[in-house]
Amino acid sequence: MNKQASDIAMKGADTAKTTPRKLGLKERYNLMTRDLGWDTTYQPMDKVFPFDEFEGIKIHDWEGWQDPFRLTMDAYWKFQGEKERKLYAIIDAFQQNNGHLNVTDGRYINALKLFFQGVSPLEYAASRGYALAGRNLRGVGARVACQMQAIDELRHAQTQIHTISHYNKFFSGLHENVHMYDRVWYLSVPKSYFEDAMTAGPFEFVTSISFSFEYVLTNLLFMPFMSGAAFNGDMATVTFGFSAQSDESRHMTLGLEIVKFLLEQDPANLPIVQRWIDKWFWRGYRLLALVAMMMDYMLPKRVMSWSEAWEIYFEKNGGALFEDLSRYGVRMPKYHEVAQKEKAHLSHQIWSTFYNYSHAAALHTWIPKDSEKDWLSEKYPDTFDKLYRPRFKHWEDLAKKDERWFNDGLPMLCQVCQIPMVFTEVDTDPTRISFRESDYKGAKYHFCSDGCKDIFDYEPEKYVQAWLPVHQIFQGNCGGATLPEVLAWYHFEPGVDNGDYDLSPDRANWDRWTGTRAAD
Ligand code: FE
Ligand code: ZN
Repeated sequence: MNKQASDIAMKGADTAKTTPRKLGLKERYNLMTRDLGWDTTYQPMDKVFPFDEFEGIKIHDWEGWQDPFRLTMDAYWKFQGEKERKLYAIIDAFQQNNGHLNVTDGRYINALKLFFQGVSPLEYAASRGYALAGRNLRGVGARVACQMQAIDELRHAQTQIHTISHYNKFFSGLHENVHMYDRVWYLSVPKSYFEDAMTAGPFEFVTSISFSFEYVLTNLLFMPFMSGAAFNGDMATVTFGFSAQSDESRHMTLGLEIVKFLLEQDPANLPIVQRWIDKWFWRGYRLLALVAMMMDYMLPKRVMSWSEAWEIYFEKNGGALFEDLSRYGVRMPKYHEVAQKEKAHLSHQIWSTFYNYSHAAALHTWIPKDSEKDWLSEKYPDTFDKLYRPRFKHWEDLAKKDERWFNDGLPMLCQVCQIPMVFTEVDTDPTRISFRESDYKGAKYHFCSDGCKDIFDYEPEKYVQAWLPVHQIFQGNCGGATLPEVLAWYHFEPGVDNGDYDLSPDRANWDRWTGTRAAD
């Protein structure tokens, strides 16, 4: 917590002692949130808050900011403290009862690794991001909302670290998630996403994370992981998930509130906000490719397919939201129809990529079992049997001959989303790589899609600086020129953290602990 936050918390505690009980909720709320703000006198407000104007957003009346929850800091600490007590009681019980042995199958832990490596550090990044946004917005209602969310996100990071500490005693790949987040190729996808948001202005940050991510797309990140955990017997994850989700309702409200507030303040804000919605829809959607793979391939017991989730949570619910926002002049995010067409391909393409490169990943991969392949055929009748089943069959045959396929080449990455160029032209030829490029100051830059190319073309100076893992390896910045050197720099333990699940110590341990050799 920063100095300002702790001052406010202290003031809140003092006031609670001396405030007469008669005060209504609204007065009490005003006293303990909005009345804590003031206009500066030694320095002009514009100098103290230089960042809430350079994006071009016009605010005429900060009082127009509505806080639907009317939560005061003292009530906030009380609620959160209660949640923490419940959460840790369950995590303790889970640990004492060796709860990890009750999950459906050892393979499931790899979905958790993806979450803890890729998402938990985002919680911490979100805490930093909201603290920064709160500092830079001059309206006190917005600042208080950002402050609470910054503290929420720090709590999410902490509760997840406590869950990691249990799983890390028994499974590989979880020993250094923060170190890995800053270095590993596939983790640069979530990292670059969040750092793009944090290095934007405060209004873009809040629109990107609160609206595009938390309001529009969160159901596609949290729901699959948490329902996946529940379906697969992982009560530790379900518990921190529910605890975080209860903060989420506040976050989602902030997301919708910020967009409505911006649109109501000045008509000139509309094109700026629409561009952010377009950009952050596309970046968020690309990030969710990891979730698509998790849902269709990594859960031993499936919840629903990625394609079904996209239909329910984006096409249907998101469609209704944008319909509602159309009265402000907002339209559906650009390229949403591309996402719709890609939904029958996404998870297969990403899992194949991880299968190709799992010698360089801190999670294990496998060929889906026959029953799982049949499930995929059923869920993806137009694409799986035709395009992806034969590919898995080919790799399976190689593995049976003891020639398990690992790709030794380094892939070209998209300059914006940083995902290897594995997406295809699903409209015209789904076996051809989707490839776009731009020239900027005499150099060429490559993109996976029109969505990513648009983002680059609007702000090339920002994206030419991207830390692309493959470029960095080629430039000698990642420990050396050979795979063992790069893995050492990632702090991976070769033969333990990486490779095929069937050959991993995780599987050997799982079979030993549960006394079963999982059916092949
Ligand atoms: Fe969070
Ligand atoms: Zn891209």
